[in-house]
Amino acid sequence: MTQIPHSLASFSLKDKVIVVTGGNSGIGKAIVEGVGSLGAKVVIDYRSHPERTEELIEEVGELGGQSIGVQADVSKLEDLQRLIDTAVQKFGKIDVMVNNAGIETRTSILDTSPEDFDKVMNVNLRGVFFATQYAAKQMISQGSGGRIINISSVHEDWPMPNNTPYCVAKGGVRMLTRTAGVELAGKGVTIVNVGPGAVATPINDSTMNDPELLAKLNAAIPIGRMAQPEEIASVVAFLSGNGASYMTATSVFADGGIMMSSPGL
Ligand code: NAD
Repeated sequence: MTQIPHSLASFSLKDKVIVVTGGNSGIGKAIVEGVGSLGAKVVIDYRSHPERTEELIEEVGELGGQSIGVQADVSKLEDLQRLIDTAVQKFGKIDVMVNNAGIETRTSILDTSPEDFDKVMNVNLRGVFFATQYAAKQMISQGSGGRIINISSVHEDWPMPNNTPYCVAKGGVRMLTRTAGVELAGKGVTIVNVGPGAVATPINDSTMNDPELLAKLNAAIPIGRMAQPEEIASVVAFLSGNGASYMTATSVFADGGIMMSSPGL
């Protein structure tokens, strides 16, 4: 009888331990729900709104998964280490680290203050860098290796004028994944970026609350609309499973075609 190749038989995330930073809203929340419903044990990192985390833990339980919440600020290295340590204390290992937490200032090169710059870098680049380092050390020491998934953006490669620090940080994450992915491939740790296009989450409230701007954005997207967070979570769920075992040091975009958009001129 023909055997199902492992890559097709491996969509279950049963008993995989998955840490999601910024996990109680937007894309992070959808990732927690998605991987939780596929049987993962989820560690939900959050910075604020513990009540949302409690609701989410209950929801994951109803979906058949198991989760805990850890309040940790990814811009603080001691918090990041505590996040990793708590995951291991509770579940014994980390299979997947999803670096999802992110912020933006929507400022240009001319109007970005040093404080704005540091704020964005500390969360979107320094936080991802050291979360990758700490998670990778754990994955190597536990012997089974693991996977790091960085929620980057189309803006790791595609400019967004008037959001310069954000683009610079995401560009850094692009090269972090490529370089660290090569460094760690022989040690059983793979790293992949997921680059969403425009997703309907709180980070985009200002655009979604401006009908004219929203219409302009939708018109620029070949698929014609923003993504729902679940459409990014499903990519992360695939990448978390054994079916993505040969992917590393690269980026996967789920952007409705926006990076390839062309007026046909
Ligand atoms: P969101 O604002 O709902 O989520 C961001 C989360 O990060 C929030 O839960 C927030 O509390 C958390 N966070 C911020 N600073 C933190 C810190 N210091 N420590 C811990 N958590 C912190 O927005 P989202 O759209 O869900 O964003 C998730 C990720 O997706 C971000 O990295 C963002 O850059 C990326 N992204 C979003 C879009 C989009 O259009 N929404 C597109 C591309 C990439």
